[in-house]
Amino acid sequence: MSLTVVGSIAFDSLETPFGKKERVLGGAATHFSLSASFFTKVNIVGVVGGDFTEKEWEVFRRHHINVNDVEVIPDGKTFFWRGRYDYDMNVAHTLETQLNVFEKFQPKLSEKSRNSRLLFLANIMPTLQKQVRHQCPNAEFVAMDTMNFWISSMKDAVIETMKTVDCIVINDAEARQLAEEPNIHKAAKQLMKIADLKAVVIKRGEYGAILFTKDSFFACPAYPLESVFDPTGAGDTFAGGFMGFLASQNRIDESALRRAMIYGSIMASFNVEEFGTERVDKLEYHEINQRFRDFKKMTHFDDIPFEKMTSA
Ligand code: AMP
Repeated sequence: MSLTVVGSIAFDSLETPFGKKERVLGGAATHFSLSASFFTKVNIVGVVGGDFTEKEWEVFRRHHINVNDVEVIPDGKTFFWRGRYDYDMNVAHTLETQLNVFEKFQPKLSEKSRNSRLLFLANIMPTLQKQVRHQCPNAEFVAMDTMNFWISSMKDAVIETMKTVDCIVINDAEARQLAEEPNIHKAAKQLMKIADLKAVVIKRGEYGAILFTKDSFFACPAYPLESVFDPTGAGDTFAGGFMGFLASQNRIDESALRRAMIYGSIMASFNVEEFGTERVDKLEYHEINQRFRDFKKMTHFDDIPFEKMTSA
């Protein structure tokens, strides 16, 4: 029941309307693995520099995340991202990206990571995602994310990687950009067709997320929060809840996929309440369960169709 993830492990400098933080622990694979660790055993594949300290390792250890496949380059620097959000927190403005140790990274997976049942290719160079995909030929369900940075600079490579997976988990603007199609439903269908995907998950920030499979559609709202502090990593945290929950299930069918969407949304709703990884790091199971019940109530309605009045 394990899950392997490859992606960025980073230091993030963040600015939101509610404050600023310099060099906090971040990265797509970091947010993903913390979230998924509430549901299953997670192996993280990535690379960090000599500037990665005991404080950062401790976060992974606290959540029993297997870091044996994180390479350390003592004289290199960890991936760095600087981002800003204005009042529309659905839009991240990238101010600086330093690939640093990721530039020359050649992932080599241990047997444990190679044999895991599920694989997630979190946001990083699409060429690296594909290398990891090829090292896990027996994975039962493989999903990937990407972002505008890679779609703009290496679109063909993104599509080549997409052809090797079962599912893509992507935000709405990126789905439109990748499919070159403004209508989100058509874009999802287009992506499914280009890469013969089993599922397409489109994240829509505060408007929730939608799941497209070959013959069904499921929409899930976002949890109605009044205080959104820092949306960084919300998408990765969603993907961690989604894939982590799937890894905990015996069968990956429509029912499991729909509940995975709810767990993804729950985990993302916690992530945005504080800066970086702070909130998910101290999250407890009873809080997840409470939000699961809230989601059930929030989306329930009686199956009583409206009967048209026939009186003259
Ligand atoms: P999200 O808010 O879920 O889209 O992801 C935010 C995380 O993605 C941050 O913690 C960043 O470190 C990481 N990130 C930003 N740009 C990139 C990039 N070009 N490649 C990989 N990871 C990135």
